[in-house]
Amino acid sequence: MKIRSARGTHDIFGNDILKLNKIEQTVSNCAYLSGFKQIQTPIFEFSDLFSKPLGEHSDVVLKEMYTFKDRNEDLLTLRPEYTTPMIRAAISNNLLNNLPLKLFGFGPMFRRERPQKGRYRQFNQINFEIFGTSDFFADVELILISNEILKNLLPSRQINLHINTLGTKENLLTYKKELSKYFLDKKHKLSEDSKNKIHTNPLRILDSKEKDDIEISNKAPSIHEYLSSESKLHYENIKKSLNMQNIKFIEDNKLVRGLDYYCNTVFEFKTNELGAQDTLLGGGRYDGLIGLLGGPDIPGIGWAAGIERISMLMETNTKSENTIVHIAVTDIKYHNKLIEITQYLKSIKVPFFWNYKYNLKKSLSKANSEKVKKIIIIGENEFKGNFYTIKNLTSGKQFELQISQIGDYIND
Ligand code: AMP
Repeated sequence: MKIRSARGTHDIFGNDILKLNKIEQTVSNCAYLSGFKQIQTPIFEFSDLFSKPLGEHSDVVLKEMYTFKDRNEDLLTLRPEYTTPMIRAAISNNLLNNLPLKLFGFGPMFRRERPQKGRYRQFNQINFEIFGTSDFFADVELILISNEILKNLLPSRQINLHINTLGTKENLLTYKKELSKYFLDKKHKLSEDSKNKIHTNPLRILDSKEKDDIEISNKAPSIHEYLSSESKLHYENIKKSLNMQNIKFIEDNKLVRGLDYYCNTVFEFKTNELGAQDTLLGGGRYDGLIGLLGGPDIPGIGWAAGIERISMLMETNTKSENTIVHIAVTDIKYHNKLIEITQYLKSIKVPFFWNYKYNLKKSLSKANSEKVKKIIIIGENEFKGNFYTIKNLTSGKQFELQISQIGDYIND
């Protein structure tokens, strides 16, 4: 049997790994400037952690989790999202004694979805969370930091910020009831998928991509008719602050986000350059969730972004960043000279590569095919004369240098 990767998984290498590193570097820099601390949690957790807050009707719980029994019958799940593990970690490690707590992290998430472009079963996410404040400026700060990261990584892409408010848990409960009533009336016109959500998760019908569903959703009651004055003020403050900072946004009454635990602010950064999987980043407030998981009754807000989706939109770097120096050795007799030069290159932090072939022609052709600029040659003359030949593969010129002269020439 031919070995192959599991469906919906992918290997990251070559240019994509360079992009991944750049994303993680940019995220870490932006996080540092805004006072967020990095955290890494285990990839699997007890299943309860996810099934409890996500709600039994949530899509993620119903179909998408990778859950398995451990040998001692414990039910474990590969994390499908990062908010609940971060809350669990903050509770387990007593980090909530010092509020507000600002955490960020990145790593793989697992969902058993139908794979397609931009949608995998194992994918990487970036996550930012703030625990312990209801201040509207926390919402603004998280939107700003998302904006900074995306602007930094995707400077020439058309990305739009969509925002909405879902009101308090109570507002949302009343709204959901009204929405169910409205959709029940139009049931015959809805898609099969949406029909199943009328009583369980009517909010999700609002972001259905089916044409008939969209038409009916457009005339559905809006959450804004059910907002408390406090929620309205929170939302107005956010919009004012974004305007003051020249952050453009689109108000989108139908933006609801998938998971049951969101309330008040929700936001997404979308692009029309990725086809159906158009959301790069999404987040919102989840007041009540930390208490539900056994922590103190404090509010929280956060967002998650898909690293693969960001990577797909990043420019491929065509200019060669190959500062690596190749080495050619013509005979095993010169091994000590090879050791000497590799130790020296390490000490001056110049990356090097040798193809293990005592063959000048093969080493030169490897260096040329990798578009390398310089090659250090060790042959009989170099051995006897105690020098190194360095050839510039762009100009074709070559020089005979003592080891101490090599650093200056290479960094030139
Ligand atoms: P969510 O946790 O569903 O709000 O997703 C947050 C972000 O993660 C999305 O906006 C996507 O960029 C990314 N994402 C979610 N699911 C997948 C997936 N199956 N494959 C790749 N990226 C995903």
